[in-house]
Formats: sequence, structure tokens, C-alpha cells
Amino acid sequence: MNNSKENHTLTRTEIMTWLRERDEKRLNVLWANADSVRKLNVGDEVHLRGIIAFSNHCNRTCQYCGINALNKDLIRYAMTQDEIISAIREFESFEYHTVVLQSGEYPGIKRDWITELIKRIKSETNLAITLSLGERSESDLAEWKAVGADRYLLKFETSNEKLYESLHSENKGSWRKRIEMLQTLDKLGYEVGSGIMVGFPGQQFDDLINDLEMFKELNLDMIGIGPYIPHPATKLGKDFKPATVDAKQVPNNKLTTYKMIALTRLTCPLVNIPSTTSLAIIAVDGRAGGLTRGGNVVMPDLTPETFRRHYDIYPSYHREHFNTDNYHHELMASIRSMGRRISSDSGVSLKFKTRNIKISNNDN
Ligand code: SAH
Repeated sequence: MNNSKENHTLTRTEIMTWLRERDEKRLNVLWANADSVRKLNVGDEVHLRGIIAFSNHCNRTCQYCGINALNKDLIRYAMTQDEIISAIREFESFEYHTVVLQSGEYPGIKRDWITELIKRIKSETNLAITLSLGERSESDLAEWKAVGADRYLLKFETSNEKLYESLHSENKGSWRKRIEMLQTLDKLGYEVGSGIMVGFPGQQFDDLINDLEMFKELNLDMIGIGPYIPHPATKLGKDFKPATVDAKQVPNNKLTTYKMIALTRLTCPLVNIPSTTSLAIIAVDGRAGGLTRGGNVVMPDLTPETFRRHYDIYPSYHREHFNTDNYHHELMASIRSMGRRISSDSGVSLKFKTRNIKISNNDN
């Protein structure tokens, strides 16, 4: 830990220069710095998390998301607890030590049902549990923590409050509520994951700099960054036009996503950073590219195929075939071929460990 570079800082001007940089040779310096800060702080281990998207029912109308309540063409599903447990059992042998239970935001998903599910997973497996169910009440979150939930994932999507509200127009004050929930999760003792999308309409480069500042302010343990992928069944996706070079609009491409991953590693060295599924979807080499530019986590979608095709948050024309033995062997082989190790533990964020040590020191 003596080598920790937790106080590595970059000025806004330096960050802006990197965000505008197009010269490959200079960018190689950014990638190399991010990779070495990753190695120095969180090491060579890659943590695998298996996502089970157990329901696509949703009450929200987020204008970027394909499972939003206004999409009437979508077949809605909810897996039973037995289906979830048997899906988890299928990937137990593949070096996964965390399951991520994800869904739309839906009041029909009852507190007691999730409580029971957490208890079952904890008694029947050794997996750490990450929840990602959208915004929920403090009492729900407290109960789930008490019965064994370890982490929660809730992206704030953008630090630009006005922009966020314009994409969630049904719900004034929703950005603030989301930020408050991240603080509540922290208070309740969860490992807190959040993050942003890169390149959705209206997002400007200054917003990305503010996003990086916000990652630090919120003291996050995990930070996920993925490109915005236009979905034709959404308001935002229908009218989408790719950004032109040098425009103010942030492009939703691989390069900008890589830059944000690398800059996040430099400014928040101890956090867990996934090489995201959306990045793997827009580019065949995206998964590996994210891991060599600061990433140390991979979160494959392990939802059984019959359900997964309806968990349509973004279009996934090149979607990888996650649930085959072959896929797992190839993923593990490609991680090892980068000189990285697959973690044999649940991969608690170093950020989480160190901030908890600090808290207990203060108490003494
Ligand atoms: N309902 C939960 C979890 C599911 S959505 C929640 O709101 O937190 C998970 C994430 O998918 C979102 O946070 C968003 O960052 C991402 N997402 C949704 N639509 C997307 C799109 N069109 N392109 C890229 N990412 C998208």
C-alpha cells in the first residue's frame, strides 16, 4: 500500500487535453500510465462477476433505456427464485465469486422477496451479492444489507443535473434522489458502485470532467463507464446522430470510453473498474482494451438465453454468447494471455477496505 497513488491529481486543463487528444503515440502514454497505476494499486487480478438480469419489468421512463415503461413492444419477464438459483449453479464452477442481481426499477419486486432470495443465495452458495434494482427505500436497503447483501450498483449516469432531469422528465428532483441514495448506501455499509454513460445526446466534455470529480467526491468503491448505445425503441435513440469530430458533443465511441476508464484509474487508483459489457458490444476488442487501460473487473451477463434476449436495455447485435462453456474458457484464456490472473476471492474493492480502516481508526 506504500506505493498507493491515491493522491494522483490531474488539473481540469490536463483532463480536457486528454479528452481532446487524437494522436495515437501520445495516447499510448495515457494507456501505459493507467495500466501501471492499475498494476501498482489493485494488482494483476481480474474479478469476474456474473450478472443475472432476473426481471425486465420497469416503471421508469428513462429516455435512453430500452426496457423503459413506454416500450410496449417488449415481452416482460420475471424469473422465479428457483430459476435464479439454478442459473447461478451453472456458473459456480467458472471462477465467479460474485453474483449481480439486476432488474428494472419496479415496485412489484417486493422487499420480502429479495430478502428471501438473498438468504437462499447466502445459504446455498459462497457468492458475494451485488444488487442493482434501481432506486429503493432506505428501509429496503437496510434490510437487504442485514441479511447479507454486500454491494449495490446504481449509476448516476451524468454529473449534469439538468441533463439528467431532461432524460427523466417524469420525475423532477430525480438526480438529487439518486445521489442521496448513493450516500445512504455508503452509510448502511454497502460497497457502493456507480458510474456514467459516455456520449449520450447533450453531454459535453466539461460534463466528463465533472463526472471524474464526482467519482472522487462520492467516495465510490466501484466505477462503471460504458458508451451510450442508441436504442431504436427509445425517444433518444430514434433521433440519434453520431457526433462530428471537434463538436462540443461527446462521441459515444470506444476511444472516449477508453479515455474515461484510464482517467478514472489515474484519479481513483484504488477503485474497482469494470471493462463494461456495453464497451464489449460496440467493439470486439473492447473487453480486452478496457482491461489494459485501467480495468480490473469483468461482468458477463449470465442470464439464461430465454430471458436475456428480452433484457433489451441496449441493442446488442454483436452480443457475445455468454452462457456456453466455450465462452467461459475463452474469456479466462484471454485474461490469462494478457498476463493477468483470475481472482480466487470475491474482490472487495481496495477503496472500500481502506476507507473502512480509516473509519475505525477515527473511532478509536
Ligand atoms: N434499473 C437499474 C439497473 C438496470 S439499468 C438502474 O436504473 O440502476 C443498468 C444501466 O444500463 C444503467 O444504469 C445505464 O447506465 C445502462 N444503460 C441503459 N440504457 C443504456 C443505453 N442505451 N446505452 C448504454 N447504457 C445504457
